[in-house]
Amino acid sequence: MKIMKFGGTSVGKPERMHQVRELITRDNEPKIVVLSALSGTTNTLVSIGESCAQGEKAGAKDIIDKLEAHYRSFVKDLLKPGPARDKANGIVSEHFEFLNIILKISFNEALNKDILAQGELLSTKLFSCYLQQEGLTHKLLPALEFMSIDSYDEPQVGSIKVRLGMLLEENKETPLFITQGYICRNAKGEIDNLKRGGSDYTASLVAAAIQASVCEIWTDIDGMHNNDPRIVDKTLPIETLSFDEAAELAYFGAKILHPASIWPAQHYNVPVKLLNTMQPDAKGTIIQEKASSRGAKAVAAKDGIIAIKIKSSRMLLAYGFLRKIFEVFEKYRTPIDMVTTSEVAVSLTIDTKAHLAEIIKELEPFGTVEVDEEQTIVSVVGHELAEEKATLTRLFDALDGIPVRMVSFGGSPHNVSLLVPAEHKKKTLQLLNKGLFGL
Ligand code: ADP
Ligand code: ASP
Ligand code: MG
Repeated sequence: MKIMKFGGTSVGKPERMHQVRELITRDNEPKIVVLSALSGTTNTLVSIGESCAQGEKAGAKDIIDKLEAHYRSFVKDLLKPGPARDKANGIVSEHFEFLNIILKISFNEALNKDILAQGELLSTKLFSCYLQQEGLTHKLLPALEFMSIDSYDEPQVGSIKVRLGMLLEENKETPLFITQGYICRNAKGEIDNLKRGGSDYTASLVAAAIQASVCEIWTDIDGMHNNDPRIVDKTLPIETLSFDEAAELAYFGAKILHPASIWPAQHYNVPVKLLNTMQPDAKGTIIQEKASSRGAKAVAAKDGIIAIKIKSSRMLLAYGFLRKIFEVFEKYRTPIDMVTTSEVAVSLTIDTKAHLAEIIKELEPFGTVEVDEEQTIVSVVGHELAEEKATLTRLFDALDGIPVRMVSFGGSPHNVSLLVPAEHKKKTLQLLNKGLFGL
């Protein structure tokens, strides 16, 4: 059995959904198809939630009405007049009725998660109507019945495996399943999600849970490129990556993959393919256990980084200092990305402001605390980078003129990370593209 995940752009227009049908019927292997919301929908749902949170009901209503009109015309273009179109219109009515009801009740975070879930619920149900019209035997698997996260927002692979296994067992003869990416239930049993871009994570978790033959991530580009194509003019697709390399790229900002989406596939050894819905025959990228070659493969950038420096002469020749500092971050469940130390100071980075004020307050007794926001981590990822002296020389030569604030090298053999002020990100990516890849 294989997993095929289609992102927002891949289902964002009626003709794209037609193309997805073609792609999922190209071979006879049984499959679970994971769908994102139609492109733009989750952003719109986010803004509906924001308007509700600010008490701007009229604004929210306006956005809801425009979104409904979009879905009405989508249905009209996707389906011929007939029972499948009638069913689809009924589904649109049901979901927009829900969105209109929330305008009337008091808003809270749990309700916001319900709003965010509407996108994937709509896309999968509408796609199912289309498959019904085309006479394709399939079954909708409700993700809310098997995808779950614990009280720390971590997916529960064990229970996902059991619940999904039972659902598949009940439908043994079904060759094709459709399910929602992104959405899940949390420890309280409420509707929740795997964070933005989370459909990739769903696909990988489902692939791990059923030991799929492959986890295919279908998107709008022909695989992982060697640099961020949104920022750098000339980039090229990479044919193969190891799980370690892909995990680092995803974590350090390559938007094509959700930051956590590689570990389930890696842990359960399911190969991942990144493929282009718009160019199905392009090679794409294969991600598997073994690295293809040594050296730098790609550069990625992670925005919204906060650098924290703790300076104290008490650190000189002291032991236990770092432990005490790290304990503060552990207490607030805030992961640290980069760390550098000198004799009298330690600098580290975090990617969330959620508990920044409390963290600073608790660090102050240890020394002088300096905070710099709006930083970017630029990561060069590859295999055994530390062994490639020529690559390292090219990397640091390329950075001429960039005010690099921190460097992390040696922590992982696959990664050299640099912290630069956000305004230097574009230039850094361009210089590395030239210096490392000659592009
Ligand atoms: P989907 O909606 O299919 O999940 P995403 O927008 O989440 O698609 O991810 C695909 C996008 O990721 C591409 O269109 C591209 O702009 C962006 N991207 C950023 N970095 C990379 C990279 N290194 N390689 C490929 N795509 C990248
Ligand atoms: N629809 C969700 C988002 O836009 C999840 C996804 O597309 O992966 O973030
Ligand atoms: Mg995505």
